[in-house]
Amino acid sequence: MDLEEVERVAVLGAGTMGHGIAEVAALAGFDVALRDIREEFVQAGYERAETSLSRLAERDELTSAEADAALERIEPVVELEAAVTDADVVIETVPEKRDVKRNVYREVDQYLGEDAILTTNTSALSITELSEVIDRPESFCGMHFFNPPVRMQLVEVTPGAHTHDETVETVMGLARAMGKTPMRVARDEPGFVVNRVVAPLLNEAAWLVHEGVASAEEVDATARYGIGLPNGVLRLADDIGLDVLSDVLGYLHEELGAAYEPCPLLLEHVEAGDLGEKTGAGFYEYDEDGQPVSEIPSDAVRDDVEERLLAVMANETAKLVGADAADPTEVDEALMLGAGFPEGPGKLADRAGLASLYETLAEARSDAPRYEPAEELVERAGAGENFHHEISDTDGDSFGDLTLDITDRVGHVTLDRPHRGNTVTRDLLDELVEAVETLEADPEVRAILLTGAGEGTFCVGADIQRIAGDADAIDGVELARQGQQAFAALEECDMPVVAGIDGDCFGGGMELAAAADLRVAGHDASLGQTEHDFGLLPGWGGTQRLPDLIGESRATEVILTANRYDAETMARYGFVNEVVETDAVEDEALELARDLAAGPPVAQRYTKRAIRAGRESRTAGLEVEAHAFGQLLNTEDLVEGVAAYLGDHEPTFEGK
Ligand code: NAD
Repeated sequence: MDLEEVERVAVLGAGTMGHGIAEVAALAGFDVALRDIREEFVQAGYERAETSLSRLAERDELTSAEADAALERIEPVVELEAAVTDADVVIETVPEKRDVKRNVYREVDQYLGEDAILTTNTSALSITELSEVIDRPESFCGMHFFNPPVRMQLVEVTPGAHTHDETVETVMGLARAMGKTPMRVARDEPGFVVNRVVAPLLNEAAWLVHEGVASAEEVDATARYGIGLPNGVLRLADDIGLDVLSDVLGYLHEELGAAYEPCPLLLEHVEAGDLGEKTGAGFYEYDEDGQPVSEIPSDAVRDDVEERLLAVMANETAKLVGADAADPTEVDEALMLGAGFPEGPGKLADRAGLASLYETLAEARSDAPRYEPAEELVERAGAGENFHHEISDTDGDSFGDLTLDITDRVGHVTLDRPHRGNTVTRDLLDELVEAVETLEADPEVRAILLTGAGEGTFCVGADIQRIAGDADAIDGVELARQGQQAFAALEECDMPVVAGIDGDCFGGGMELAAAADLRVAGHDASLGQTEHDFGLLPGWGGTQRLPDLIGESRATEVILTANRYDAETMARYGFVNEVVETDAVEDEALELARDLAAGPPVAQRYTKRAIRAGRESRTAGLEVEAHAFGQLLNTEDLVEGVAAYLGDHEPTFEGK
């Protein structure tokens, strides 16, 4: 079956995943039969798809007409025969029980068309083994979506030993047609790639609570605010469903041994019917809308818990790499696209240092087999190697928190702490000053571009925990000064500076963006001086620079309300110069920086100086302007500019 022939998709199971997969398939234009064993289950799944589609329409991610058309393509069905007979591809997403799935396949096999493909959304089970139930195992393939399918980008496509390449190609194409990023998994290993890391990680989180090492809040605070996993870990377990998680772990335990023994606390919750968000209770309680009733506290991060969680992730990554199931880059990409990690486990582990994580495992090892280090980890840690060669360990070299690239006369400074929202540390402030000095000393560089690493975040402000945790008042004053001086270095550099804001830009992040000359923001960006929310005030020049940029009245509003503003509003206020598509921010900002890099350097330098001087006093500003004007009249750039104008060609300014 070629992709072009696929018109109708049957989704078997209308639960957490089934309704979402049906929605994604319908949005891609396929006719979908959504099947469950009872009328009310199908109906519930159909309604969940309907709710999700209307939410997308409300958020303007699609039009109401598109949402209606997609819903119309979904047909709720209870009869298996009716669902499967005309389907070109069947996606099975019934509970993660081998026998349940096998029984479904036996039945499906009776109705499956001759060329039709059968796929499974299994989270962990062996594709080869499952495929052997049907007559044509060559048409069977793993097609593993992530929760929620409408948001998560990854689909792991895992062939079994009998799967034909054409089947894999069609399934990869189908995932692409659904707007997803398929990843062909090299080996049919239990848990594939993402769950081989996520399931043991969540299990470890449960063990830490079960063994009284830490509270659930401390574990989640550490995962979220320490490591930067947006959903915490026990929260993530509740989202996935504790039944699904315990089934996955049960299977890994059976196949891979004692290291994967499911934590008793997890099993107790399942036994009690507390399966997480879907039943209103799990590690946490949830209200009727499925919202957790308590927040993850930001002040309960524990370094020892962080080391444990990172060590377990590093160990699983090492096992996958050692088994040639994936290389570190693939593991990282899979976890970012499939589990929403801002950075992959390989990179996170490299930052912490493999040797130190190995030590953590070794110290905990006598406690449990799950801390047995993988051979690959032992070797890499012993040889002083990381997963990724380009990253040095935590001691870092001069640019540990920033990266600096120079292309086309633009010095590109990237805040490189995506695991912590690109938050600003004291080191980062020092590095920023050093980066600006480096770029100013380089005659090739004529403009600076400032962006944040990762997707959806420019910079969410100061890393308060790291830098202000035990700062006394004197330290605090110094910290404010250090930030003020670093941002001033950027503002006062002679070159034009462009900030590309592709997402969250809060607190110190907004002050940093204010120190740039121009700001390009994505449609989805969210900006705010949020310090008052924490009982602070903008301490890195925000009370001064913001009024200069947008006027005192607006600046006062922004700071006092601590509101988060969208990019369009901030453009209206005069803070953002240009609003562009979110995924085009870096390109557009770079384009602007390149244009500015081709501008007349001396005129640019004096323009910046005159504007800054004018902030002190109008007279001073005019004085700088007059002197600069006089000087510019004697430059070669003026001659070049005039010649270019008359000759109707682009000028080449040399800054002379
Ligand atoms: P779920 O319990 O929410 O839904 C399963 C649905 O299948 C239920 O509605 C059930 O009534 C139905 N069902 C049972 N037997 C059936 C049959 N014979 N025919 C049709 N429907 C039947 O479970 P889920 O979370 O959607 O998980 C389904 C599959 O997806 C599992 O293999 C799971 O491992 C996998 N998965 C789950 C997640 C997640 O985060 N929950 C993520 C990726 C993959």
